[in-house]
Amino acid sequence: MNYLSTRGHPDRKRFCEILLEGLAPDGGLYLPEAYPQVDAATLAKWRKLPYAELAFEILSLYIDDIPPADLKAICAKTYTAEVFGTDEIVPLRELEDGVYLEALSNGPTLAFKDMAMQLLGNLFEYELARRGAELNILGATSGDTGSAAEYAMRGKKGVRVFMTSPDGRMSPFQQAQMFSLQDENIHNIAITGVFDDCQDIVKAVSNDLGFKRKYRIGTVNSINWARLLAQVVYYFAGYFQATASNDKPVSFTVPSGNFGNVCAGHVARSMGLPIQTLVVATNENDVLDEFFRTGVYRVRAAVDTHETSSPSMDISKASNFERFVFDLVGRDAAKLRKLFVDDLGLQGSFDLSADPAFKQAAGRFGFRSGRSTHADRLATIRDTDKRFATLVDPHTADGLKAAREQHVPGVPMVVLETALPIKFAATLVEALGAEPARPKKFEGIEALPKRVVKLPADAEAVKAYIAENCD
Ligand SMILES: *Cc1c(COP(=O)(O)O)cnc(C)c1O
Repeated sequence: MNYLSTRGHPDRKRFCEILLEGLAPDGGLYLPEAYPQVDAATLAKWRKLPYAELAFEILSLYIDDIPPADLKAICAKTYTAEVFGTDEIVPLRELEDGVYLEALSNGPTLAFKDMAMQLLGNLFEYELARRGAELNILGATSGDTGSAAEYAMRGKKGVRVFMTSPDGRMSPFQQAQMFSLQDENIHNIAITGVFDDCQDIVKAVSNDLGFKRKYRIGTVNSINWARLLAQVVYYFAGYFQATASNDKPVSFTVPSGNFGNVCAGHVARSMGLPIQTLVVATNENDVLDEFFRTGVYRVRAAVDTHETSSPSMDISKASNFERFVFDLVGRDAAKLRKLFVDDLGLQGSFDLSADPAFKQAAGRFGFRSGRSTHADRLATIRDTDKRFATLVDPHTADGLKAAREQHVPGVPMVVLETALPIKFAATLVEALGAEPARPKKFEGIEALPKRVVKLPADAEAVKAYIAENCD
């Protein structure tokens, strides 16, 4: 299997080459040259497999530069009941008639990002050992990504994590999750500033090519193909649980920010999984909803990006969206470049409303969208508690609202649960007047000793800290 860049770079790469890379050299995103097709006989065979074996089968179609026995061992070690809480790994349950919740948030940090990040940690350790190399991961987080990365990389050989976060701006629970880690290879850096300052620092350090090479700086952001690939697996697992045979269509609703999660659904559908509709759920930061309604993709300025009660979906542009648009325009790299380099670069938007390709977004590709507000989230959380005695987090609530709007009787609608409510306790308290229950392993974490350094919003200070801590 070879990988290409959405922006037309002539090089082709194998999986392990792009595993440790971010963007392609021309600024594009990596995609497989073609999506492997899964036939009815294969689907029938996969239906009976435990999650780790299903993951191995799907990953094998995209990874041909890791010996199968090794890849199988990596999957088996990653997707265990011990790490994810149940044998099903992603158990599905029916909420109301035909509407299901797929639990993706029972991993170490209680958000769906663990599903991919735990695999990435094991793939990184394997590949770095094979190369005799080291990697220093530099990241910026406002919560979920940073903790998922740290719990995936803690104690891994050959990897260090330097995670910047805005000082005092994460929830106390999120801070405690990250800062209580005492592993030597994990470095928490609280930046005096906001999340954008953290992102600017990561960009500045990555743009210093000399420093980047000398200290082997890498990232784990959501454009990483391996993360996306890991997420494809739970669409198959959700499909099998929602149906009794492989001729039945199923729809999915996905709380979306950077379009990584739902893009994995697009890949699963492109492989032949019978997905009828993919519903993109957004909050007030509705760049994606706007595109699917109008054909206009208009990135927002920082000042127009709202701070909402589903903060992991607070994005100004959706970094994985380029992958889908590449497929939408028939994999025409010149056309893609015009949209993402020329139009976005010059005017901050592109307009496909008059392009026949836009009709295919809802048509051939099955996309729909929805949008929620803070009031919608509170109402959904209350209603779901009252009618089904089930607590959902604010992101999953955004999903549920959009799912109900798009649900077609007779076609199961699976909502991806992207976090557990305890991570966003303040909004649950606002909706219900009470704190959600906390899993046992997180009792009292706010009182644990914290391992964190405070630095000014200055790339040079962060570079100096990395240099000091690299031997
Ligand atoms: C990251 C995240 C999202 C958004 O996922 P994308 O892949 O960026 O679309 C939604 N909900 C939660 C809880 C998250 O952590």
